[in-house]
Amino acid sequence: MPEVTIVGAGPVGMLLAAELTRREVEVTVLERRPSAGGGTRAIGIHSPVLAALEPSGITERLLAEAVRVRRGEARTRGRVLGTVRFDALSARFPFVATLPQAATESVLAAVAPAALRGAHVRAVIPRLGGVVVRSTHLGRVLEHESRVVVVAGGAAGRDLVYRQGAVRAREYRDRYLMTDAVAGPRPDSEVAVVHLDPDGVLESFPLPGGRRRFVAWDDPGADDEPAARAARLRDALARRGEQAAAAAVAEATGFGVRRVVAPRLRNGRVFAIGDTAHEVSPIGGQGMNLGLLDAATLAPLIASWLHTGTPPDQALARWEARRVASARRAAAMASMNTVLGRPFPCADALRRSVVSAMLTGPSGRLFARAYAMDFDADA
Ligand SMILES: Cc1cc2nc3c(=O)[nH]c(=O)nc-3n(C[C@H](O)[C@H](O)[C@H](O)COP(=O)(O)OP(=O)(O)OC[C@H]3O[C@@H](n4cnc5c(N)ncnc54)[C@H](O)[C@@H]3O)c2cc1C
Repeated sequence: MPEVTIVGAGPVGMLLAAELTRREVEVTVLERRPSAGGGTRAIGIHSPVLAALEPSGITERLLAEAVRVRRGEARTRGRVLGTVRFDALSARFPFVATLPQAATESVLAAVAPAALRGAHVRAVIPRLGGVVVRSTHLGRVLEHESRVVVVAGGAAGRDLVYRQGAVRAREYRDRYLMTDAVAGPRPDSEVAVVHLDPDGVLESFPLPGGRRRFVAWDDPGADDEPAARAARLRDALARRGEQAAAAAVAEATGFGVRRVVAPRLRNGRVFAIGDTAHEVSPIGGQGMNLGLLDAATLAPLIASWLHTGTPPDQALARWEARRVASARRAAAMASMNTVLGRPFPCADALRRSVVSAMLTGPSGRLFARAYAMDFDADA
């Protein structure tokens, strides 16, 4: 019997597979998508994750491809409201490493065992001394029995582990437009910029290859046709003086935000990690980082269990408490960013003063630490 079955070959499942394999644990990964890739999502990797992945050599591979963002600026109407100095943090990696999620996933895929693709998991069934994972693959029903199962299936994996209604999801009314586009040479090519204007937030983050990630607040009732979305994003960029980027935008995806923090990540031999257990608004850029820390910190505990034959129950309970606390903290931070990024046509001056105060002096250093996940329980 394989020792661990992992459901989902997203970044979190793949990191766990790599970390368990490195500790000589036999792993099977089941993934419903027939091939890797797909739309771009997470771009920022924070210092605690880079530090956790250093012993495996993954950090070195990620940094070979990433831009090191050492500074962020909040701007309003072209004027700098405040600066966030990651380079002033006493962190092992005093910057945010940015690269597309697909690039992160291919770095992880290079060190993780290959997933069985096209295997759609339908049920996770605990048995005495093991767990059965039932999936469908090429029209056949497969059953994998293993000693431990970890569901890292993103939001779609939640129904496999939590009873209906056991985990509350809060939907926000906010919608955003997003694209990665070539921005051309510019003096702030390694600076993260957040424009806070009366018509809502526009984020502009550096990416490798002279590209930038642009995310703009969008009217929830606006036309969802692809051409209309791209036109609105071009307009939002042009209004903030991003003419070159506006000209380069060919398409824009739209997304909404949700907040989910499950109170439990373990039930006997079954674990839930990553977006399966917690989903935070991307306006804050911590969702994937939370999941990567779940995986990096769980791997040594599962390996010790399987090598000694005894579950380290106390250490696992402490792990669960730390990861739930970290997810709650990240969700609160993401909620605050989401609210601050809304249009405030009547209270824009108030928002400017709040943001300016938040980014000045000791509170500015606290904000930089919170943004860089220095308050994560496993940082
Ligand atoms: C627009 C956007 C921007 C974001 N930006 C950031 C950012 O800058 N920084 C950050 O940290 N986070 C960011 N995030 C969040 C980040 O993308 C997620 O937190 C991350 O992808 C979660 O990884 P995961 O492996 O847990 O889940 P996923 O990436 O969703 O992977 C889950 C995998 O499981 C598979 N699967 C699901 N169900 C089954 C099943 N039943 N059987 C088999 N396989 C299954 C899926 O096909 C998928 O491959 C962003 C999210 C969005 C939407």
